[in-house]
Amino acid sequence: IIEFKHVEKYYGTYHALRDINLTIDSGQVVSIIGPSGSGKSTLIRTINGLEPINSGKLIVNGFDLADKKTDLNKIRKDVGMVFQHFNLYDNHTVLENITLAPKIVLKRPDKENKERAMDLLKRVGLENRANMYPAQLSGGQKQRVAIARSLAMDPKVILFDEPTSALDPEMIQDVLDVMRYVADQGITMVVVTHEMGFAREVGDRLIFFDQGQVLEDEKPEEFFDHPQSERARQFLSKVI
Ligand code: ATP
Ligand code: MG
Repeated sequence: IIEFKHVEKYYGTYHALRDINLTIDSGQVVSIIGPSGSGKSTLIRTINGLEPINSGKLIVNGFDLADKKTDLNKIRKDVGMVFQHFNLYDNHTVLENITLAPKIVLKRPDKENKERAMDLLKRVGLENRANMYPAQLSGGQKQRVAIARSLAMDPKVILFDEPTSALDPEMIQDVLDVMRYVADQGITMVVVTHEMGFAREVGDRLIFFDQGQVLEDEKPEEFFDHPQSERARQFLSKVI
């Protein structure tokens, strides 16, 4: 469903992604961990075309991202993204945040759209917040709305960029529970995270990223119990 072959990415002269080769299959939950500035956000942002690549091959749901003629809107319809700082529409209610894209992009009829949104709000435990505005919600609630908004598009893939990093500790678990629900739906997930518990228990695969490269790519338990590289051992000794 996602295939990187010899992908390179530069910001000016800065070499941000170095020879990325990865295949992510449908339904996989892939966690990406690594030091700050190593290129984790850059990597996942290439998957929905938020960051263009300079060379190599990147195929997402059959679309070629290296081809300038590819319509990014077609890719983004199937590839949702959840950000660290939620990125909700502040001047729209919770319900509108969820119904807006399905209405415009999928032309989903209003009644069905609203029912679907309310059902998703129930799933994330926020059905009584439908008519509030983002400013009236806690960080954890905003993030659960953001995930519901992604789910409303029936995506094949959801990219998560440190979805719990901006949250108070007591709110993290509710968001992780919703992410576990997303994983159980069989949606392909690529998750940049510092939540080692999530990476270990929910993730199928763990990628350790360092200096623009994939240093390790294996089963989470193998990574946590027997990291291969010295860099990964150093990193783990600091975060666990
Ligand atoms: P963090 O854990 O802090 O979020 P990260 O692993 O997500 O870090 P990236 O945000 O992908 O790292 O950044 C990788 C490198 O690319 C960094 O050195 C960063 O300064 C640089 N970089 C990122 N975005 C840009 C940009 N738009 N222009 C120039 N350089 C950039
Ligand atoms: Mg980042």
